[in-house]
Amino acid sequence: MSLLRQQCYIDGQWLDALSGAKVEIANPATNEVIASVPMMGTAETQMAISAAEKALPAWRALTAKERAAKLKRWFELLLQHQDDLALMMTTEQGKPLAEAKGEVAYAASFIEWFAEEAKRVYGDTIPGHQGDKRLLVIKQSVGVTAAITPWNFPAAMITRKAAPALAAGCTMVVKPAPQTPFTALALAELAERAGIPAGVFSVVTGDAVAIGNELCSNPVVRKLSFTGSTPVGIKLMEQCAPTLKKMSLELGGNAPFIVFNDADIDAAVEGAMIAKYRNAGQTCVCANRIYVQDGVYDEFAEKLAQAVTKLKLGVGTEADVTTGPLINSDAVAKVQRHLDDALAKGATLRCGGKRADLGGNFFEPTVITEVDKRMLVAKEETFGPLAALFKFSDVDDVIEQANDTEFGLAAYFYGRDISLVWKVSEALEYGMVGVNTGLISTEVAPFGGIKSSGLGREGAKCGIEEYLEMKYICMSV
Ligand code: ADP
Repeated sequence: MSLLRQQCYIDGQWLDALSGAKVEIANPATNEVIASVPMMGTAETQMAISAAEKALPAWRALTAKERAAKLKRWFELLLQHQDDLALMMTTEQGKPLAEAKGEVAYAASFIEWFAEEAKRVYGDTIPGHQGDKRLLVIKQSVGVTAAITPWNFPAAMITRKAAPALAAGCTMVVKPAPQTPFTALALAELAERAGIPAGVFSVVTGDAVAIGNELCSNPVVRKLSFTGSTPVGIKLMEQCAPTLKKMSLELGGNAPFIVFNDADIDAAVEGAMIAKYRNAGQTCVCANRIYVQDGVYDEFAEKLAQAVTKLKLGVGTEADVTTGPLINSDAVAKVQRHLDDALAKGATLRCGGKRADLGGNFFEPTVITEVDKRMLVAKEETFGPLAALFKFSDVDDVIEQANDTEFGLAAYFYGRDISLVWKVSEALEYGMVGVNTGLISTEVAPFGGIKSSGLGREGAKCGIEEYLEMKYICMSV
């Protein structure tokens, strides 16, 4: 059976929308229709939530080892189908095939990690406060949970939530991004093959607002995990408030990338290429503001522009393509707006600078210099292949500029002086800091932000805690 499913997976069954309505999904590289998925809404979401509630007692009653065995099987199936999943992802999302394969491995790594962590949900014993008291803390699954995920990592943003949820003994209903439903449905197909019981993991596609409303307002759902934009995260938090759900929110970023005079410039260029141009600049940890100290500004700008001209823009399935299309025409328009605004306010174009005439939503990898804080690119996340280089001279000043944003997800810097490394690492108001590296994501480390970038952490040993409640037991003996 192929991994391309055009129905939703609810309560262990593949279903059409009750109304029969479907929505067509297009390839962002060609704007051609790939296939369609059900246009579901409130009623189907209620069915998925009921199924999750029904499946919960048996799933949470399994031993951690039993749940881990099923998750391990799911993990293996992802890797066995890595090529098929990657091709599907490239077709619906646009990232080059090699990157898509990398994402499948990354997505699978969360399942493996949390299958392992499931067995290490330890409690506590506390010395009693009175002679006859024995105090314990146990951890229990939160219950029915929900996830709303974005299109930029169609597989990993789901497994980073579903794996800890299922490992902890929770059940989950997922609403994937409207742009990338097929990867989500393929994950459901593989979950079914892995023997994950009906109702434990369901995927509902369709009307984002109706599905989101139900997931947020239904009292059976005890937790919502969301990855996406800050405005939508805030809206979902408001919608979850009346039922006081637990929430994990991984929201927007506006990552600074700082290069100090004593940095290894070649390494900094390499890091910037990854931090800026991976996924065509469409990751929430992408470098958005590149601050370069005056002593190395020209050298860095020159070398970065040289490296960027070597990128190959094109359809992600073609050989040697390093940069795919953006997700849609709005995304292209945003990059253009940021670029036009910067150029109008005095920035210099070093390479790229326009839409590419390749048929879909392509924008040339671009570098601009002489950028300053009056420009839109300083304030908003571009989410595209536009590198904006600011010049600075003073360390305290660049720290202040780097922190001068409502966001606090990822930050990067390159420098070698050990005192500087500590000072800047501690001063940056961000949840994650890459020092002399442009790639920080791994399932073993806590991913998440502060300020308007969100709440909670995913991955790492703490990732499973987000799906667990503590219960304190006080025994009088
Ligand atoms: P992006 O701009 O990257 O698409 P969004 O925050 O708009 O980020 O989308 C992330 C996820 O949130 C997607 O699954 C999208 O369908 C969903 N979403 C957007 N608006 C709402 C809403 N009002 N209610 C529920 N989900 C929503």
